[in-house]
Amino acid sequence: MPIGTDINHAAELLRKGEVVAIPTETVYGLAANAYNEAAVLKIFQAKQRPAFDPLIVHVHSLEQVQEVVSFQRLRRADTYRPTPAETTVTKRTLRGDDDTRKEAEALMAKFWPGPLTLVLPKSDRVPDLVTSGLDTVAVRMPAHPMALELLRSLDFPLAAPSANPFGYVSPTTAQHVADQLGEKIPYILDGGPCTVGVESTIIGWESDAEQWVLYRPGGTPVSEIEAVIGTVGQAKKSVLPASPGTLESHYAPRKPVFIGDVKSLLKEHTGQRTAVIAFTEKHEAWRTEVLSPKGNIAEAARRLFAALRSLDASEANVILAEIFPQEGLGAAINDRLRRASAKRS
Ligand code: AMP
Ligand code: MG
Repeated sequence: MPIGTDINHAAELLRKGEVVAIPTETVYGLAANAYNEAAVLKIFQAKQRPAFDPLIVHVHSLEQVQEVVSFQRLRRADTYRPTPAETTVTKRTLRGDDDTRKEAEALMAKFWPGPLTLVLPKSDRVPDLVTSGLDTVAVRMPAHPMALELLRSLDFPLAAPSANPFGYVSPTTAQHVADQLGEKIPYILDGGPCTVGVESTIIGWESDAEQWVLYRPGGTPVSEIEAVIGTVGQAKKSVLPASPGTLESHYAPRKPVFIGDVKSLLKEHTGQRTAVIAFTEKHEAWRTEVLSPKGNIAEAARRLFAALRSLDASEANVILAEIFPQEGLGAAINDRLRRASAKRS
């Protein structure tokens, strides 16, 4: 099994254009040189990920952000100079694009390294394959010490989605990666179990709407982001998924999942082998995974994906899940459970 803790070996493989699974604080990622299109293509192949699903670019410094993000492009919309009359009626023309850059920098200063991904205009250095042809790029600085050490030893950033087959539950241990992708990738860098356990929160600047919008709730609570930049809007649903993290069915086990009031769900499924994902207390079910007996929502998030995987591998016929409190990481937990429960077409 190609699992180990050798950061130099991982770096060597990445320099040669290989893919390597790496630990981050959110989930394990499947990484490749973000500037090397052939290497990035291997990520899509290993994951069987559709090319319309863009990757997150991982950086180790604010200088490296400048390589992948083009704050200049925020200015494009701003080349039009409104007349004084127009300026007084439309507030949006008063907002300078420097404001967006400053807000992005304030978010980076406050939350990085950490589970927040920013979607910003991309630079020409980032191949279209990484962004699925979008003119924006998703960027983040991971907080895992091994991921940061690895990134610092390379002279390119790493494009990395979660290290799981497309649509399935994300991996939170090296063994989860090995279980599904072990045969397809040359190395898994083992950094222990992920400490956050759900993917990063993704927000982006939408220049048409002139506002920050949420693409995916995750490891950084939106309320904490809003404390820095004010209201964050909701991303519009579109036919072409600008953010497949927002696909209805995603992060899904193979077994059917139902989310709601577990007592009624258990009644509806009498006679079946029911497995329950619960916050603090056991249910009268065939099996219950209690995520945090003490009621700690961060602990529940950390344990969510391992619990889903273990119930999916069990003899249960059906997985039932409670609705978690919306505070803190609860929003991300409910989002993943809701999408795990969406009917696949
Ligand atoms: P994963 O790393 O597998 O959780 O997937 C990364 C997710 O980031 C994608 O599924 C998208 O939802 C989101 N993403 C990446 N790039 C962009 C972008 N340019 N605009 C909007 N969302 C993005
Ligand atoms: Mg994913």
